[in-house]
Amino acid sequence: MSKTLQATGLGPLADGGRVVVIGGGPGGSGAALALQAEARRLGREIQITVVEGKQLEEGKHHNLCSGVLSPPIMTLVENELGVPFPKHLCGACVTGYVLHANQQQIILDGESEPSAAMRRILFDAYLLQTARQRGIEVHTARATGVEFHADRVVVYTENSPLTADVVVGAFGLDEGTGALFQQAVGYRPPPALSAIVTKYHPGKEGMQAFGKRIHAFLPRSQHIEFGGITPKEDHLTINIAGVAVNTDLMDGFLATPMVRDALPAFENAGRFKPLDLRYFKGRFPCGLARHYTGDRFVMVGDAAGLVRAFKGKGVTSAIQTSLRAARVILREGISAEAFRAYHAANQDITRDLPFGRAMRFLTITAARLGLMGVVIRAAEHDAGLQRALFDAVSAHQSYTHVVRGALTAHAAKAILGALFK
Ligand SMILES: Cc1cc2nc3c(=O)[nH]c(=O)nc-3n(C[C@H](O)[C@H](O)[C@H](O)COP(=O)(O)OP(=O)(O)OC[C@H]3O[C@@H](n4cnc5c(N)ncnc54)[C@H](O)[C@@H]3O)c2cc1C
Repeated sequence: MSKTLQATGLGPLADGGRVVVIGGGPGGSGAALALQAEARRLGREIQITVVEGKQLEEGKHHNLCSGVLSPPIMTLVENELGVPFPKHLCGACVTGYVLHANQQQIILDGESEPSAAMRRILFDAYLLQTARQRGIEVHTARATGVEFHADRVVVYTENSPLTADVVVGAFGLDEGTGALFQQAVGYRPPPALSAIVTKYHPGKEGMQAFGKRIHAFLPRSQHIEFGGITPKEDHLTINIAGVAVNTDLMDGFLATPMVRDALPAFENAGRFKPLDLRYFKGRFPCGLARHYTGDRFVMVGDAAGLVRAFKGKGVTSAIQTSLRAARVILREGISAEAFRAYHAANQDITRDLPFGRAMRFLTITAARLGLMGVVIRAAEHDAGLQRALFDAVSAHQSYTHVVRGALTAHAAKAILGALFK
């Protein structure tokens, strides 16, 4: 650490230092728990406050996330945050995927650790409650303003103002909070895709018939980039995503034969839960935010756009980036310069973004031209291509890895063979 940083109070957060974390999702709770654990390792006592607008612990709020938690989530939570993974909340274990495109489908079962599927609201509440039990202050209110000074940051909330040495922005894609930082420090939120999400309870037999695989769809549509049906404990979560998806597009998606065939007894929709098939709207980041670090602030998870492009594993990335931010705050400092170490630590995500974007473009184009069916047929005869499809759909590997796996002479031969068959 440079002497200048220490002199300006922008060095590593010292004993007695104060952090305010805005947002109590996986990124926010993860940052709070990671800061506490890292500070203790370094023999420092710091004061951490999480500001969360929702009453997550009461389980009242709906979260649109499908709740599929991908590896290495368990290792991050247990080994890095030092929190037992909430296995009791796992409604289902996802054993694999079925990829559908252009009237073709392929089962993709990987050999790696399965993903866990659970109600996101319960996962978030569990992490936040653990933070509270460990002495981290949780302020149930919305942050309504941020004010940066040379020696401190003031965070205004709906009840009392808070003063901190550094602020962690873990507010996801909340537009209002993004605007506060845009005004205060020139932050620009990440570009995002929109999503429509709905639920369907097909009953016990229907759930058994559906099985434990996620069905992923690449429709031949100008507007839907991908769709998915995820089995949860007693229902199926159905979602579509694209630049601007809406209810008409979801109606159309649900009416397509490939989706109808995958949904058990769909004609009975509403029989088990009359409120089935109500539509909710959400957003995914699909690129990086701008100016997401600076003197006395750092953003993690969705707020930074630090997620895998196209098919993200947002919860895992939110926790991963919060751990990295905590380490930098305590070991390097809280200045724009010190946060360069945060950018360096996240290169596994940022360097993969161009590959993810290229993959997104190629997949959408191939699906729209009706060529994804050819890739699926080719993958039936090429283990490497099949593995690459699994890694892309499951988000178990980086896109760099996926592209390398797919670009082999054998895979090219299999694709040409399938094309001219
Ligand atoms: C339809 C859909 C399905 C998805 N499915 C999956 C999936 O299966 N698996 C997966 O890993 N990811 C999935 N994601 C992505 C995942 O939801 C996000 O990547 C993840 O939630 C990011 O975590 P975060 O902590 O950065 O932000 P968030 O989870 O968005 O948390 C932000 C928190 O900040 C709070 N907040 C915001 N502003 C303020 C304020 N001013 N004051 C106080 N509190 C504030 C909010 O209330 C919220 O609790 C999905 C996303 C969508 C839209």
